[in-house]
Amino acid sequence: METFLKELSLASKHLIEFRDMYEYENRIKTFTDWPFMENCKCTPENMARAGFIHCPSANEPDVAKCFFCLIELEGWEPNDDPQIEHSKRPSNCGFLSLTKNFDDLTMEEYYMLEMDRLRTFLVSAGMNNKSQLQRETAELKLICKFDSVVLGLNRDYGFFSHYNK
Ligand SMILES: [Zn+2]
Repeated sequence: METFLKELSLASKHLIEFRDMYEYENRIKTFTDWPFMENCKCTPENMARAGFIHCPSANEPDVAKCFFCLIELEGWEPNDDPQIEHSKRPSNCGFLSLTKNFDDLTMEEYYMLEMDRLRTFLVSAGMNNKSQLQRETAELKLICKFDSVVLGLNRDYGFFSHYNK
């Protein structure tokens, strides 16, 4: 139980910290000590574009992790294409499957994405109890629905008050 709680608290810390990593600029900042800087496919730019952040350790200086699906890859070769390496792994990464820029997402699409990310983090923290996970996801969905209804109401109300002028 104690291990589980520790993992959960680490996961929630990462869940919050990694939210900033939706921004390309923040991901690329992590690659200051990356061993492949130029004349190769896995440059910091390409790594960051594919969703990776650099998480080096003393023994493994080239560990990169996807901020979204948390997949960790190491042993990079200069000719490895980060996008391809990422998509080869069976993580069903929600970030990698985005069909538009993060900044162009609607509020609802962003919520769905965040739910997907939350699910990944919970699973990584050992929270594999499916029924519990499903219940929590259902609760989250309700909260998100409520939020979008409120957003919709605000919008409609704004429209009507404008219309009645
Ligand atoms: Zn990923």
